[in-house]
Amino acid sequence: MEALERAVTSHVEGRRDILSLPVLLLNRFFAPVSVTTARRALVLLYGGVGHAVDTAGDTYDFTLWRTLPVRVADDALPIVGGALRVPRVLHLLRYDRTPRAAVRLTRANLMLRDEYQCQYCSRRPGHRELNVDHVLPRSRGGEDSWTNLVISCRSCNLKKGRRTPVEAGMKLLCEPRRPRWSTAKQILMVMREPFEEWQPFLKAG
Ligand SMILES: [Zn+2]
Repeated sequence: MEALERAVTSHVEGRRDILSLPVLLLNRFFAPVSVTTARRALVLLYGGVGHAVDTAGDTYDFTLWRTLPVRVADDALPIVGGALRVPRVLHLLRYDRTPRAAVRLTRANLMLRDEYQCQYCSRRPGHRELNVDHVLPRSRGGEDSWTNLVISCRSCNLKKGRRTPVEAGMKLLCEPRRPRWSTAKQILMVMREPFEEWQPFLKAG
């Protein structure tokens, strides 16, 4: 999923390098697998590994795809004799797995897992007032892990100090775990406004 975040971020940050645009990859059964760059998608399309999917959900091999006209909303690459529409979705013809990408341990993902809620007092004071708390303090050997990090408000964080919850007489709302988000959910969380062509494939996630 690291590649996914990279692919999407370069797009969101406005670096409109056509070959870096994100393309949604679908497995044989049209389930989302990952996001790649337009560069790699075009290599897969040209090599016959995948078919491009248009807005209507129709699929095209490279030979057909290159004959499609470029519309106003499209991104396109200049090619000999015209322009090539950059696909937004690529259907991988022989890939039948549905891997669940591991969720990266980041502050943003911890906030999403804990729903911006202090895991000690259950308040939601806004993300600026929230910290990442080591349940077993770092000074006592507590690691950075999904099971040892929780979101807490500043006052709970201060109150707890370098103690464990038990020592501080504080109770966690629930036991922290690694989230098991579907690939579609992760893609939607990274890319808030996915391309229109992606939406039918991300809904079911
Ligand atoms: Zn709190």
